[in-house]
Amino acid sequence: MTTLLVKNAHVLVTMDGARREISGGGLFARDGLIEQVGPSETLPASADQVIDLAGHVVLPGLVNCHHHLDQTLTRNLPVAQNINLFRWLKAHYRLWAARTPEASRTSTLVGLAELALSGCTTAFDHAYVFRNGCKVDDQIAAAREIGVRFMVSRGSMSLGQSRGGLPPDDCVENEDDILADSERVIGAYHDAKPGSMLQIALAPCSPFSVSAELMRESATIARRHGVRLHTHLAETIDEERYTLERFGKRPVDYMDELGWLGDDVWFAHAIHINPHEIGCFAGAGVGVCHCPSSNMRLASGIAPVKAYRAAGVKVGIGVDGSASNDGNHMLGEVRQALLLARLKMSLRPPEGPDTTLSTSDPSRDGEWMTAREALELATLGGAAVLGRSDIGSLEPGKCADFFAVRLDHVGYAGGLADPVAATLFCAPQAAAWTVVGGRPVVANGEIVTIDLPAVVAEHNRHAARIAALAE
Ligand code: ZN
Repeated sequence: MTTLLVKNAHVLVTMDGARREISGGGLFARDGLIEQVGPSETLPASADQVIDLAGHVVLPGLVNCHHHLDQTLTRNLPVAQNINLFRWLKAHYRLWAARTPEASRTSTLVGLAELALSGCTTAFDHAYVFRNGCKVDDQIAAAREIGVRFMVSRGSMSLGQSRGGLPPDDCVENEDDILADSERVIGAYHDAKPGSMLQIALAPCSPFSVSAELMRESATIARRHGVRLHTHLAETIDEERYTLERFGKRPVDYMDELGWLGDDVWFAHAIHINPHEIGCFAGAGVGVCHCPSSNMRLASGIAPVKAYRAAGVKVGIGVDGSASNDGNHMLGEVRQALLLARLKMSLRPPEGPDTTLSTSDPSRDGEWMTAREALELATLGGAAVLGRSDIGSLEPGKCADFFAVRLDHVGYAGGLADPVAATLFCAPQAAAWTVVGGRPVVANGEIVTIDLPAVVAEHNRHAARIAALAE
């Protein structure tokens, strides 16, 4: 048995039912699970490992609900900097299909390292391009190596251009192979137990890259095994046009027809959604992953996050693929959610005559996304979206997943009247400590589980080979 004592935090944010923030707080964990949380003087005096976090704010580990770690290999490519989703995807499909298992391993390590350095302790990866010998197994091995709690999809694309899909035919897979490998990956890896470090989801990529049949079959397999379902939905007006033309339905109605509105489903983006559809999500228990940077980067739109919250829809936050964000900074993404919700407040609905609304009316005070609400989305919200009751807050019985930020950064100077809100209102800083299941992944500001400089060097060699293919 291994014990961990964290003590003397300037403030420890619990996200418990009372939303306690404990001055001088700490926690005591055994074998990766929290046994006690409270003022440091109330905790055991010693443990196998003791971390003194005086001068730090301690928060529950952030939960990243949507990502494509392999895209770290194709960040910031000049050919894809100034185009919207469909054109951006077409610029990338063959590049992603050209990655090797080794490239996939290093991109997973790089992406998860950057996430851990920004406070993320649980990451979901929506892997869906499996060509060139790449398998989910490559990413799982990498996640185990670095020690971040991991959920990964056996995702898929099956609908090539010749059948009316967006991806080239040589980037998609045979549907029988996809379904067989989905069964294999679930059987080999999915761990549903509390404290699980590894879970599997099934995630056909989008309405415009898989068939209706594959959507239905994936749902059948997922429900047989009790794993979750995920896809991209209502990300762009182009997608809405596609489903209207091809199926005569809006994206949400199409999902309903396929049996994809349920409490075991979460959608990435869900931007172009009307009030009736928000009610459908709330009624069915569907979750949403909000990806603000990617949505701005690709000019996709702004998800109605406050309306989702008001309706009772589960909402988490994701950095999305590294090539549509070009970063994996989870704390920075939470800040983007805070800011973008405020921009959304100022915009009239599309049918309105003007482009802006006054935000001065006190009756609109409830529309402001607060720092604590944004942090809640990224912790409790993300846990709910991924169907986990064992993460998202610092309470007895939960996983010892947390991160700590030093308050003596120059970026926080003058902003310490509210240190918790400073983590978002001030420029996002790196985590000094990120601990997953009681085990430090980041200590004193450094990744301690892998040789990060060597991994970055190898990753950049793989990325250069792939970038050359784009030219
Ligand atoms: Zn995505």
